[in-house]
Amino acid sequence: MGDNIYVVIEHLQGQVSEISYVMLAAGRALASGIGGELVAILLGHQAQNLAGDLAADRVLYMDDPALAEFTPDAYQLALAELIKTDTPRAVLLGDTSVGAEVAGALSVRLEIPLVSRCSSVHAKEGTPKFVSQICGGKIMAEGDLPGPTALVTMVPGDFKAEEGQSDQPAEVTSIPAPSFDDLKVTLKQYIEPEVGDVDISTEPILIAVGRGIQQEANLELAEELAAALGGTICASRPVVDQGWLPISRLVGKSGKSVKPKLFLAIGISGAPEHVEAVTGSETIIAINTDPAAPIFDIAKYGANVDLFELVPALTEQLQGS
Ligand SMILES: Cc1cc2nc3c(=O)[nH]c(=O)nc-3n(C[C@H](O)[C@H](O)[C@H](O)COP(=O)(O)OP(=O)(O)OC[C@H]3O[C@@H](n4cnc5c(N)ncnc54)[C@H](O)[C@@H]3O)c2cc1C
Repeated sequence: MGDNIYVVIEHLQGQVSEISYVMLAAGRALASGIGGELVAILLGHQAQNLAGDLAADRVLYMDDPALAEFTPDAYQLALAELIKTDTPRAVLLGDTSVGAEVAGALSVRLEIPLVSRCSSVHAKEGTPKFVSQICGGKIMAEGDLPGPTALVTMVPGDFKAEEGQSDQPAEVTSIPAPSFDDLKVTLKQYIEPEVGDVDISTEPILIAVGRGIQQEANLELAEELAAALGGTICASRPVVDQGWLPISRLVGKSGKSVKPKLFLAIGISGAPEHVEAVTGSETIIAINTDPAAPIFDIAKYGANVDLFELVPALTEQLQGS
């Protein structure tokens, strides 16, 4: 049984995804605690340059045209061979559309355990541990990481992306690709999502509204605050599902990832599907009446108050300044 921790690097359109750096930071905590190496697994085609800032001890790079864009089939095949041969102690994947699609299938194929939605992996007195967010992030389940090799899908939360970045490039080793001749799923075309009225993924100030806003008419409060701040409103899924805002304003797994200077979340609980798309924000501020809301885990500043009291008062202050 190996003590090394493998991190599967996610990338899209030539950019390493934020979750990859978060996983490297988490993987480092675990690898240091059990005396193993932190190894980044980069699958792609002519993508070696993406290894440049990965804070790993080494990078294993597999190059093949079939890996140019993510497909679950090709990733599964590539990773299955590698995991079977190397038997790392844990393999970290994002709890994202990419990681979730691969991890379950790998678990079945290799007959190894999968622990999903983990906000942390670490070691206590040399024993590998996980913390998994269950019930939409409201309950934290802690346990020993099953062995000898465990697959772990990770959500952002306990580790910062910057901790997974390094200006000292790690050593890159090319590894052979298996035969991809029999893939059942291949990519035909990459379709960019519609930008819609506003492209929230490039907006510098976002006021994000959640179910706590209660009804459509109350969106005006958020609009007024956004106007006072020079920002734009966006929303969590319940607000968009109700048709109160268009899908172009949806933040999360089914919507857009955002990285504004300021992300002000009002009445949003911080479910993993929402949080995975906001951790690139420079500063997150949350207003929520529930002190245990998971959004406070990623917020730099939090106000545990009623939004209907604070938001109008904040707008008034800003308008007067
Ligand atoms: C496959 C899949 C994909 C998904 N994709 C997305 C996605 O892209 N984006 C997304 O957002 N969700 C997505 N979800 C849904 C996600 O799981 C959550 O259900 C959703 O994010 C919850 O939205 P919310 O935080 O607004 O609502 P809730 O979880 O209901 O939270 C409302 C919050 O408002 C607070 N609140 C209530 N009243 C007040 C008040 N007066 N003042 C202050 N705070 C108050 C409450 O304490 C609570 O924390 C997805 C789910 C699945 C299964």
